[in-house]
Amino acid sequence: MISKAYAKINLSLDIIGKQENGYHILKMIMQSIDLYDIVSVEKAVEGISLTCNKSYIPTDDKNIAYRAAKLFIDRYKVESGVKINIVKNIPVAAGMAGGSTDGAAVLKLMRDLFKPEVSNKELEKISVEIGADVPFCIEGGTVLCEGIGEVMTKLQPFKDKILVVVKPNFGVSTKEVYKAFDLDKVAKHPETKELIDAIKKDDLDFICDNMKNLLENVTLNKYPLIKQIKRELMSMGAKGAMMSGSGPTVFAFFDDMLQAQRAYDQLKANYKEIFITRTI
Ligand code: ATP
Repeated sequence: MISKAYAKINLSLDIIGKQENGYHILKMIMQSIDLYDIVSVEKAVEGISLTCNKSYIPTDDKNIAYRAAKLFIDRYKVESGVKINIVKNIPVAAGMAGGSTDGAAVLKLMRDLFKPEVSNKELEKISVEIGADVPFCIEGGTVLCEGIGEVMTKLQPFKDKILVVVKPNFGVSTKEVYKAFDLDKVAKHPETKELIDAIKKDDLDFICDNMKNLLENVTLNKYPLIKQIKRELMSMGAKGAMMSGSGPTVFAFFDDMLQAQRAYDQLKANYKEIFITRTI
């Protein structure tokens, strides 16, 4: 069984409070993009084994895909084991839910292999255990995610918008970024309702002018290079540029493919992980 596991960007990321257990209460518009890992799962006699084309990705229970398989086996009392392979294309520690999407793909593939009667809704419910972004990755598309990310409202599709995605040559720890975030210092929150209305109207101009990610307050100050990448993309004709999730990846919307290609060509020399893609 084989499947594409899509990355995401945030069209908005708002933080509205903190739970007693330390988790932040979020309100974010998540959007799948056409950049993906390829995940395959096959039956094995027993145990879970995982291989990946990138040597720096953990292959034990530190890998979310591994934990997804373990969760599925325990929850549904599966008698056999599985062999998982991941072809990694999504930048790692980048704010693009790379690990979560592999976990989501494993859950869906194992459902198809062992328990076809299990619904996406049920998988989403159990998947919060392995990561707050995993339910979104099971759902995909354009979704308002609230709570710690698991309370989902499907939005109108916002497809086929051209993007250039740039991952600076360093990663950031999501945990550290949230730890450094100070809600008292926020001057302005994202206008989530207005952004949702704009998605309904397929109004890319409004999205570009008003998209907002509160975690930029932390990551942009710590890494000025992210600001510079945003500026560079804007000077190359982007309609809007923003950091995704906890960063450091920056995405920029372009009106046409030619401009996107020019920006890609100019930045390619400096950034190894750069992609032209689109919303899906
Ligand atoms: P998010 O947007 O959900 O915060 P991210 O893109 O910032 O995710 P990931 O790419 O998921 O972060 O990786 C974060 C850490 O998780 C890395 O240090 C990596 O070693 C580990 N990890 C575990 N499983 C995976 C996986 N399947 N793919 C990539 N990284 C993984």
